[in-house]
Amino acid sequence: MIIDVHCHIMDDPADRAAVDRTLELAGRFDIQRLITSMGKDLIVAPSPEQIRQANDHVLALVKGWSDRISGYCYLNPRLGRDACLDELHRCLDAGCIAIKLWVACACDQPEVFPIVERAIDLDIPILQHTWVKTGGNMPDESTPLHMARLAQRYPQAKLVMAHCGGAWEYGIKAVRNCPNVYPDVSGGNPTQGLLEMALRDLGPKRILFGTDATLRSFASQLAKVDAVKMPARARRLVLHDNAMRLFNLPKPA
Ligand SMILES: [Zn+2]
Repeated sequence: MIIDVHCHIMDDPADRAAVDRTLELAGRFDIQRLITSMGKDLIVAPSPEQIRQANDHVLALVKGWSDRISGYCYLNPRLGRDACLDELHRCLDAGCIAIKLWVACACDQPEVFPIVERAIDLDIPILQHTWVKTGGNMPDESTPLHMARLAQRYPQAKLVMAHCGGAWEYGIKAVRNCPNVYPDVSGGNPTQGLLEMALRDLGPKRILFGTDATLRSFASQLAKVDAVKMPARARRLVLHDNAMRLFNLPKPA
């Protein structure tokens, strides 16, 4: 059984057949649990209303398919501490299990700190988008160095570094000495060397499997793992056990 810790199920939750189709596709690859975030539109600097809509989309998916789907509460730190924490608790009460931060605010900025402090209190992970773009990042887009700074400030926080930082060689190096940072392999085309380097530099207990589906295909993302020769135990950690532990997921009955 595989757990996808980073995906975006954009199907309208009211269209049950569409969601079922996505889950059936994931099931063909033995991806049995998907932790999804954000709604139908990816909005760079969402308003309170847009944040709520995005989270309502996720909550409807979690409610309708709790046996397969878990959810992140998406927050925009620039909306302020109280607005973020209120929305976080609304979403946690309704079934979300973690926090998603995207590109509204670089993750080493003070606006992010109250969110991280609450996540530590609650023992829930934060999935933070990171990338390094050759053409230049968006103004508030986090890089792996932002992630490393946040991790050093809050060594108790459980931080998922999305996409291994995009430029994964750089990303893996940046967080090598931050044991509370867990890179996910989602996004980007499969390239040889990514998982090999992550296994060598970080060890199998710090790597998470994610797909960024439905923006990416399940097949292309799983290829990043399937193409790598590794012990069965390491594979199980990456595809399943690490996610179970980090997200406190319930063991299936
Ligand atoms: Zn994503």
